[in-house]
Amino acid sequence: CPLGPALLFVKVGRGEEEGRRFYACSASRDRKDCNFFQWEDEKVSEARLAAREEYNRSHQPSFTHTQNVERYKNFVLLPLSKRRFCQECQQLLLPAEWEKHSSHQFLCGISTAQLRSPSQLLYPLENKKTNAQYLFADRSCRFLLDLVMSLGFKRVLSIGTPRLHEVIQSKASQEDDFGVRSLLLDIDFRYSQFYTEDEFCHYNMFNHYFFGGEAARETCRKFLHQDKGEGVIMVTDPPFGGLVEALASSFKKLMAMWKDTEEEGRNNQEVPMFWIFPYFFESRILEFFPTFSMLDYQVDYDNHALYKHGKTGRRQSPVRIFTNLSPGMIVLPAEEGYRFCAICQRYVSSGNQHCEICNSCTSKDGRQWKHCVLCKKCVKPSWFHCNKCNCCALEDHTCEKTDAGCFVCGKTGHKRSACPSLS
Ligand code: SAH
Ligand code: ZN
Ligand code: ZN
Ligand code: ZN
Ligand code: ZN
Repeated sequence: CPLGPALLFVKVGRGEEEGRRFYACSASRDRKDCNFFQWEDEKVSEARLAAREEYNRSHQPSFTHTQNVERYKNFVLLPLSKRRFCQECQQLLLPAEWEKHSSHQFLCGISTAQLRSPSQLLYPLENKKTNAQYLFADRSCRFLLDLVMSLGFKRVLSIGTPRLHEVIQSKASQEDDFGVRSLLLDIDFRYSQFYTEDEFCHYNMFNHYFFGGEAARETCRKFLHQDKGEGVIMVTDPPFGGLVEALASSFKKLMAMWKDTEEEGRNNQEVPMFWIFPYFFESRILEFFPTFSMLDYQVDYDNHALYKHGKTGRRQSPVRIFTNLSPGMIVLPAEEGYRFCAICQRYVSSGNQHCEICNSCTSKDGRQWKHCVLCKKCVKPSWFHCNKCNCCALEDHTCEKTDAGCFVCGKTGHKRSACPSLS
């Protein structure tokens, strides 16, 4: 489809065991955005293949990356008064193109500072299922950059992190002694207007597809291999609706790209990585990357009302950093309440208490969790042990077995709070 190779899925009907396999768009779960569909064993006629190719061609961006780089060079030569950005087409305009966009809304006097922060100029693509562009709040972006620098990294492969990329590139262009560089891999082609082929690759992280072909792949490979592959870290913040399995497979391929050097002894090493994702995906991520651990740091976003940090009276963010670096190395800001647990040897959030029985700081969501002796683990503070389900759950959950009884004794007719056995 226009977004590169499709992925193989399986549709399992009720009561069926095997299910039927089919190909669908790797990046879009919404048929409205991409309706590519093909049964695995389906024979596709020549005519349909040709139509498909034609369709894919017609869904390519109107300018190539190379053309956009050329246009940018001309754009920056213009005096401020002639620098326009069409908001409808999300495109920098050259004077010859004004006419064509005359009925569109546009911004004037685009400054160098604005060109250095395209993520502020472009509107975020919030389409939940496909792009889900949620930009880091300054607090989190600065934290990530400080972290990368304090750990001594020199190159950041920014996979779906345009704001981190732009902060790095912008500093690099203004401060002579700023030693960090970034390469952005993102599906949002609008960024090709602001970055050269060495700074941005149009990339799909669900199928490891480089839209720019072999040349773009080579750019990425070279970036990973600079300085004998030393000093590079991968940072990614994929859309949360994304399939963990597909993402993990792409990240492994990027890691393999890095391993594939003449340097000896890379075989057992992994590229250091920060994978930013909600905490409830922990077990899924660990399934694919057993060496990873989840940090307590809450990642904050600008344009996402729900995913903001708890400290300033706003809601807590469920988004965390997963990494293959040793968590003890990663210092979380004390001014935001994080503290070091000497037993766990890692920084934890203020509400995360060390549980003597689990022998670990067990909270995942920043609130203080409580230990359940029956479950033999810590659970959310709002949960109670349900004797019917034989595990902890919200008090008003629907039991797996019918007619919910008391959480304590399991009998029907009263709730936990009125259980006679409690008194
Ligand atoms: N917090 C980040 C942005 C994360 S939003 C920041 O501030 O830099 C998710 C990003 O992933 C967006 O930039 C979006 O364009 C990109 N993205 C979404 N689907 C993608 C895909 N299939 N392949 C590559 N990038 C994708
Ligand atoms: Zn602890
Ligand atoms: Zn415990
Ligand atoms: Zn329990
Ligand atoms: Zn129950």
